[in-house]
Amino acid sequence: METLAGDIERLAARAPALFARSDGAGSSAAPSSSLPAQLDALIARLEAARSSGSSSTPSSAELASAVAALQTTAAARTKEYYNALSRASKTLERRLASQPPLDASIAEPALFTARAPQEALLRTVWSHLLRAGEREAAQTLLQEAGFTAPSHADFQALSHILRALNSGDLKPAIAWATEHAEWLSARGSLLEFALHRSACLRLALGAAVTSTAPPAAPAEEWSDARSTLGSDDAHDGFSPTQRAMLYASEHLAAFHGTHLHEIQRLLTFILYIPPDSPVSLEMLHIQVPAPYRSFLDAQAMHAPFLAPLLEAEWCAKEGVPREAPLRLAVEIGAGGALNRIAKVRAVMKQSGNEWSQADELPVEIPLPPHLRFHSTFACPVSKEQGTEENPPMLMACGHVVAQESLTRISKGGSRVKCPYCPSESAVSMATRVYF
Ligand SMILES: [Zn+2]
Repeated sequence: METLAGDIERLAARAPALFARSDGAGSSAAPSSSLPAQLDALIARLEAARSSGSSSTPSSAELASAVAALQTTAAARTKEYYNALSRASKTLERRLASQPPLDASIAEPALFTARAPQEALLRTVWSHLLRAGEREAAQTLLQEAGFTAPSHADFQALSHILRALNSGDLKPAIAWATEHAEWLSARGSLLEFALHRSACLRLALGAAVTSTAPPAAPAEEWSDARSTLGSDDAHDGFSPTQRAMLYASEHLAAFHGTHLHEIQRLLTFILYIPPDSPVSLEMLHIQVPAPYRSFLDAQAMHAPFLAPLLEAEWCAKEGVPREAPLRLAVEIGAGGALNRIAKVRAVMKQSGNEWSQADELPVEIPLPPHLRFHSTFACPVSKEQGTEENPPMLMACGHVVAQESLTRISKGGSRVKCPYCPSESAVSMATRVYF
């Protein structure tokens, strides 16, 4: 999958070859300009020649040679791109041909005959559509499947907050964080503080966070808004740094208990900003001492950092997974899991073995770290996550099960037969494992 995506990316990178010279071919007059720009220039020259009559300076021979040169360049660029395109599609065909076709038996329709799994499947598809903003499609699915919608998180509200945040308007995000401040602080979330820190920085550096009409510039460009900002509320007679200090004293005081050090650093940083004359971000990078330069980093202070954090907290509050389950399932399946399972099933069938447990995979599927959801321990017998009351226990053979499973398998006796290997050991020999 990844190599395929890489091929397509490389091809897309070649497409601009149509617009810019990528090699020494062609002999047109303006080698650095793009093809459309050269065409525009040529059209302008032709029109000028026509309107000023035949006696004007560029001779018709000169114009003809300019047209011919441009034609050659255009043809060369187009050929370059189409060659790359055909190479990429051949690679794609080869790749697909080398994948064994999935045999229909990999499907397990029996898994979805009962009402509960059917509804689970429908719910997964339905919530995926909702998250993707396809409300109509989601509604149609409900009607056609004759299934009532469970109560669901309002993803529209989330996308409204995120859109505003990404366009530089922190107000909806701050309103949400304030509403759930208690819940956020109970889980030690940085979100509310980070939002106020961003707002304070925007004021200090001149970005209007309090204005009702947010600047249209995306977060990455907030620095550009520096000089224009402040003009909105300049009438209050405060300099941007003074406004930032006022904001800090009003909104950051609540975080003294948890983020005192960061608040001190932030206020010190503000002291390094020249109060009146607008200074470019480059100048600030030079003027501000190194330990405080992180406050100039939009990636770490503003939307690029805040949006994913807010999304994570929002999903946690609503009790919905952060990633749409359907997307994850497809990512895992297409990432090689399906092929692996198909292979193992084929081998098992040949050797006359049956895959006995429908709810358990016959083989371990290695997953990238972002797709591992059991950060602690999940008992292979009970599938429950390990807790303080039910911790993972290592048996003498080296296999680990949860305490409750160990008790259940040993039937309360003193010896336990490992469910994963032939060995039998004393229950008392099992030791607790810490992950
Ligand atoms: Zn064992």
